[in-house]
Amino acid sequence: MLQSVSILGATGSIGLSTLKVLEQHPEQYTVFALSAHSRIHELVQLCVRFHPQVVVVPEQHVDQLHQLLQHNQLTEIEILTEQDGLVAIAEHPQVDVVMAAIVGAAGLLSTLAAVRAGKRVLLANKEALVMSGELMLQAARDNHALLMPVDSEHNAIFQCLPHHYQQAAVRQPEHFGIAKILLTASGGPFLNHSLAQLEQVTPDQACKHPNWSMGRKISVDSASLMNKGLELIEACHLFSIPEHFVTVVIHPQSIIHSLVQYIDGSTLAQLGNPDMCTPIAHALAWPERIATQVDALDLFVHHHLDFCEPDLQRFPALRLAREAMKAGGTSTTILNAANEVAVDAFLNKKISFLKIPQIVEHTLNHVQNSPAESIAAILHSDQYARQVTSHYIQQLEH
Ligand code: NAD
Ligand code: MG
Repeated sequence: MLQSVSILGATGSIGLSTLKVLEQHPEQYTVFALSAHSRIHELVQLCVRFHPQVVVVPEQHVDQLHQLLQHNQLTEIEILTEQDGLVAIAEHPQVDVVMAAIVGAAGLLSTLAAVRAGKRVLLANKEALVMSGELMLQAARDNHALLMPVDSEHNAIFQCLPHHYQQAAVRQPEHFGIAKILLTASGGPFLNHSLAQLEQVTPDQACKHPNWSMGRKISVDSASLMNKGLELIEACHLFSIPEHFVTVVIHPQSIIHSLVQYIDGSTLAQLGNPDMCTPIAHALAWPERIATQVDALDLFVHHHLDFCEPDLQRFPALRLAREAMKAGGTSTTILNAANEVAVDAFLNKKISFLKIPQIVEHTLNHVQNSPAESIAAILHSDQYARQVTSHYIQQLEH
């Protein structure tokens, strides 16, 4: 049966990879809605190619988009504003699948709306889960939503876990003979930089990832290892495991996307060329498989794979994320909010790269952790942590 898909964040790196996969399977998938925060001309090009029924943009771009769509004889496409439109396309009754690919906390409410509406939710927007944790998983269980990990590591773990693990009523890893999750990390572009070198790196250098082509925010997170910290938290929630079950392994080639170790001595891994079309296609079609244009892995080319431990002295963001996960409550929301503000300041050349984890730590020490008992409580912590972080950055500038 034809599946109808909404893409939240269609103009981003993940959004475009999703469209690439969908385009290959027109008999199985149709695009219902696309959202874009900027890049309106790119959005119009996507409308020409995919003919969505609805598009969502910020209010200030509506007039421009309206004119551009008219110019392209696409007047039948409905335009909604971000304010209500993101939630509307996430929960629309005609929609079967929602790709949650907005970056950062801005994606929380629409991702949650898709989960509450019981959709198949392809989760790329890890920040939404880092913030809402158990509340999102409970909403998925209550509404029979299927939360499919798109993050390549989590998609790999999903593939290496027992088939029935995610559906089990009680998901205790010990009952399934699971001993450990090995979360792989490329180490980013600065893996071998000294602290003195790290002090000098620029936003453009941080955004040049050796293996993956991604949005600027996640590229900086990969360079600081905060991305791996967010992924550690994401894994704990998605797979109901305590943080000490997760070991981070630096694997610079990004060929093994993560591993699961069992008590009998088995270690299962998922391998592939680093291309997000693979986890996207898996999350779309599971338990079936659909083809992508990703080249099959050639082990005669990739015959050398390296592994090492992360250095928490040079990359303290990973330690901060682990501590936040251990602390629970709104700590992970505070960590995420502070990081979003600090990364933005780094990208705008207001602070140096090494200041990012220092600022996050400062915010964690100055904003009180509270129970993450409701989305309102989470949003409150998020807002407050942003204020504290911005204020601290202003102080640093003087
Ligand atoms: P990106 O910056 O390329 O794209 C972000 C998308 O979100 C764009 O379509 C943009 O218009 C939209 N957006 C940005 N701010 C918004 C706002 N305030 N309100 C509404 N929409 C907004 O980012 P990306 O690399 O595609 O990453 C998207 C998400 O997927 C992130 O959470 C990232 O961590 C995750 N992810 C990305 C990759 C990757 O390879 N790119 C891999 C794993 C996970
Ligand atoms: Mg990842």
